[in-house]
Amino acid sequence: MKYDPKHLGVMYDMLRQLPPFDKWGLPGSEWVTFELPKRKDVLGEFIESSDGAKPHRIKISAVSHDHLFSVLQTLAHEMLHLVQAVHKTNNTAQHNADFRKRARAVCKEYGWDYKFFVGS
Ligand SMILES: [Zn+2]
Repeated sequence: MKYDPKHLGVMYDMLRQLPPFDKWGLPGSEWVTFELPKRKDVLGEFIESSDGAKPHRIKISAVSHDHLFSVLQTLAHEMLHLVQAVHKTNNTAQHNADFRKRARAVCKEYGWDYKFFVGS
């Protein structure tokens, strides 16, 4: 599958309009910069906006995903970090109790493997 940052924005807007994301007040894709780094060490990464004026950043490894399904799962994972930034429920723990609770809701909704989805 060939995809570019614009496609990630489309997938992001699709997910944010579906449950359970639609209840979490995510900003539209215009408030997020999507990047496709050629990194093998991480599947995805979320970088919170430093001052509210700049967009948040979501990176999805361009070399670790070949299929829509895996891109969607990694994107959904990074979107949970964005949800946490919006609701200020993030802390120094990478995947804290709030993250795991939201991850369980996502995995239940879509029948995804919770352990794989959370990643650690
Ligand atoms: Zn994570």
